[in-house]
Amino acid sequence: MNLKRSQYKAIMRKYEEKQLFIKHEIKKRKEEIYQKLPLIKVLDDEIASNSVNTTYYIINHPEEAESKLEELQENNFILSRKKINLLLENNYPQDYLQPKYDCNMCEDTGYIGNEKCNCLKQAMINIAYEQSNIKNIIKDENFSTFCFDYYSDKIDSRFNLSPLENIRIIYSKCKDFVNNFDNEFTNIILFGQAGLGKTFLCNCIAKALLDTSHTVIYLTSFQLFKLFGDYTFNNYDEKVPQEKIESIFDCDLLIIDDLGTEFNNKFTGVELFNCLNTRLLNKKSTVISTNLTSTDWSKQYSDRIVSRIFGNYEPLKLFGSDIRLKKYQ
Ligand SMILES: [Zn+2]
Repeated sequence: MNLKRSQYKAIMRKYEEKQLFIKHEIKKRKEEIYQKLPLIKVLDDEIASNSVNTTYYIINHPEEAESKLEELQENNFILSRKKINLLLENNYPQDYLQPKYDCNMCEDTGYIGNEKCNCLKQAMINIAYEQSNIKNIIKDENFSTFCFDYYSDKIDSRFNLSPLENIRIIYSKCKDFVNNFDNEFTNIILFGQAGLGKTFLCNCIAKALLDTSHTVIYLTSFQLFKLFGDYTFNNYDEKVPQEKIESIFDCDLLIIDDLGTEFNNKFTGVELFNCLNTRLLNKKSTVISTNLTSTDWSKQYSDRIVSRIFGNYEPLKLFGSDIRLKKYQ
């Protein structure tokens, strides 16, 4: 991802601030505990000196390294258990002296070895796609705040199902999609007229996958096609960097919201096919929400797009009346 140097530096500064904050917090807690429970300091000192003594011993007796390290591990485990018991007996949580990271994978450093951690990749995506507000939106719109009250329980004879029963099925399918994300390659297309909760469901999926350290790009189809257009035709002074386009093809999840409402021409058709097809070949999941019916799809897009989507996406059709109106009644 081609961020400006200053943007990258700003992200890394945040990581450094987080680490400093955690270090400071742990130091403060240690001082507090050492004062209240001095035995914990004795145990910590013992753990530290055991490690130093073992290291020296191994330098002089390398042939015993394995057994000595095992012995050290066992001893330290016993001492750590004693520490935990002391904390619990004194009404502290057992992890009171452990650092609490936002990302346990990289311990808030942004890197795992020399590789960028997904949390750093996502921070860069958020800046590149100006989706830094995504976290705020999904604070309110996620699986735990999804409200079924707006959906009618009257059977719709066309489907022999009520909108409420239907949305419950769709909700649980979206949850399954998230829960099986790492093991099962699936794509979803959410159909239905405006105001039935499609964007809300997209947000639920985005939030759940961001929380489990996946990279997610969320674009309306208008933004997606504008990006492809700017990249190809270089309409603007600042050219869209290639890395930015590439991440659309290889992020863990691409969400295209509101597909079908954008202007449609040969160019957008080719770009859309290319994007969806590449992601399918790379086994990268995509979620599409659209107002178009399947008949509209056949009219608006070429056969190869239609067959690509309908052959590889699980169609979830929402129906009922506009819930946005009910929210304000
Ligand atoms: Zn991380």
